[in-house]
Amino acid sequence: MSTPATPKVYGWCPGALRPMMSGDGLVVRIRAPLGRLSPAQARAVAALSERFGNGVLDVSARANLQMRGVRPEAHAELIAALQQLGLVDRDAALEARRNILLTPFWRDGDRSHRIAQALSDALAAASDLRLPGKFGFAVDAGDTPVMQDIAADIRIEGAGADLSLRADGADVALPVTEDSAADAALALARWFLEQGGAPEGRGRMHRLIARRGPPASHGADVARGAYTATPGLAACGQLVALEFGQIPADTFATLAEFGRMRLTPWRMLLVEDAHDIASLPGLILDATDPRLQVTACTGAPGCLQARAATRDLARNLAPHLPAGTRLHVSGCAKGCAHPKPADVTLTATGPDTFDLIRNGRAEARPALTCLTARALRAAPDVLTKDP
Ligand code: SF4
Repeated sequence: MSTPATPKVYGWCPGALRPMMSGDGLVVRIRAPLGRLSPAQARAVAALSERFGNGVLDVSARANLQMRGVRPEAHAELIAALQQLGLVDRDAALEARRNILLTPFWRDGDRSHRIAQALSDALAAASDLRLPGKFGFAVDAGDTPVMQDIAADIRIEGAGADLSLRADGADVALPVTEDSAADAALALARWFLEQGGAPEGRGRMHRLIARRGPPASHGADVARGAYTATPGLAACGQLVALEFGQIPADTFATLAEFGRMRLTPWRMLLVEDAHDIASLPGLILDATDPRLQVTACTGAPGCLQARAATRDLARNLAPHLPAGTRLHVSGCAKGCAHPKPADVTLTATGPDTFDLIRNGRAEARPALTCLTARALRAAPDVLTKDP
């Protein structure tokens, strides 16, 4: 099958009720309430992945759980099973609207938990709200924000006892209270639409803010947080990283024996109250593992737009990276797996050719072109040596 020279931009994200066709079948994305699965739910999802999908689960950059390789004729049966587990909304519009990223470090009954519940209820009731498919909210209301590097259009952020609402891309915020935060977030979403933030149904908050600035009522200082997730013990449990954000279904089921799981936006799982998870296939437990320095998208053959395979090459090159250097291997110029600049990016341009980009995104001007996977494996120092 030929692949397009220019990647297609869909402008929406797959859900469970509105799956997307990919090179290996349907992509079914599960938006678990509060990003949490009980052991019973996790075991059941693992079994469903093996029965209806390819037996591998992905954790997306928005902390969703994704099944791939689902046969279209099996989709209805899969959805019925997921609905019984309480993991799927009643309709596709609500599923798309309920795009909330909750800090993985929330505790039962704390303000992050309560605000996320209130926001979820408010979005469920706002059936007239037609937001772009990728538009999302972040509830990051701990003592300091931990998700400021993660894409979200509207952010509720904590700073000690204070709480603020911020439009993504703005350097000022609106002070809110726990009681007002959810309604204020919805009001900001409506402001985004009224200001023309989504012409033709597409758009992101940071682009609108760059054009016209934040609402006049936003003038407070922004809460600042710097957090880097690494595998190991963390608040509420143990963080385990997943190679390329994927986990074999049987490993997922085994992991459920350690406790309830929370999905994180860092391609990691937080296992509640766990502290002694042993090595399992596909898990990265060591914070110095070089695979943590590489990002690779699905690539060929799983993605219809991919021009080459990505993950084997990324795995092979990882041990050759200097500490602290980040490599992104992208199956095409879209760069889904790492939309930001990386120290080094390899962008596939043909079945076995890659452009090499330094300090840029996947579509940026390359420093080197027409590198084959074999040449890269044979001389990986090309990644970091000066031209
Ligand atoms: S970046 Fe990767 S996953 Fe995204 S469209 Fe291109 S090949 Fe597919």
